[in-house]
Amino acid sequence: MRTVIKVGTSTLAHEGGHLNIRRIETLCKVVSDLKNAGNEIILVSSGAIGMGVGKLSLKGRPSDMPTKQAAAAVGQCELMYTYDKLFSEYRHTVAQILLTGDDLNHADRRENFENTLSRLLELDAIPIINENDTIGTQEIIIGDNDTLAAIVAVSCKADRLVILSDINGLCTADPHKDPNATLIPVVEEITPEVIALAGGSGSDLGTGGMATKLRAAQITTAEGTDMVIVNGSDPYILYDLFDGASVGTCFRGRKTL
Ligand code: GLU
Repeated sequence: MRTVIKVGTSTLAHEGGHLNIRRIETLCKVVSDLKNAGNEIILVSSGAIGMGVGKLSLKGRPSDMPTKQAAAAVGQCELMYTYDKLFSEYRHTVAQILLTGDDLNHADRRENFENTLSRLLELDAIPIINENDTIGTQEIIIGDNDTLAAIVAVSCKADRLVILSDINGLCTADPHKDPNATLIPVVEEITPEVIALAGGSGSDLGTGGMATKLRAAQITTAEGTDMVIVNGSDPYILYDLFDGASVGTCFRGRKTL
């Protein structure tokens, strides 16, 4: 089974932007094990800007483009260094791919990306993809990694996209604000009522939130690919998911032949 796993900044970093070591160590261990069990896994990882903020001791996510891009340049190194180090412990090889929206809209470049991705999987590497934040300008950015992960999942014909988030899934109300919010386990169709349940961006350092996740679900489900949102605070949840348990919220792929 081919799975794209998207990891958000809120899963990888503490609030100030410093790496959540226990979380990323557990994640790399579980992903390595799932790969050892025969699964093909592609990671789409955020965290470059967040980790750059931490490493440069900036006060929160920068609002101006040059500082944001400088933070991404610093943080992307830290991110890949950490992944490389942790996956190497389990004898897995990582490969970095950085993309802009322009790369995906340009037929030749997109084909090169898809060819490289499939060769990396044949070579048994773990591709780790992020937006190329250091050169992205407003015109060419994808803007958020939920959308990027959905495009990647569709491009590589993944069986499903798994989004690790700081919430349990789509709920009947915002669980950060409403204690009576309950989890919706399966969404068969993304109706206007479902869209109305999405709020704005969830964390200070990331750009996501439920709105971008629903947009991602629209992209994957239209191509027949399932998308599942689960809480990444304990990466062991991936074992349950891969064992077929119902965790988080699954948006069912709807492609009709
Ligand atoms: N590409 C950004 C980063 O690595 C994150 C984008 C997002 O959180 O959606 O920091």
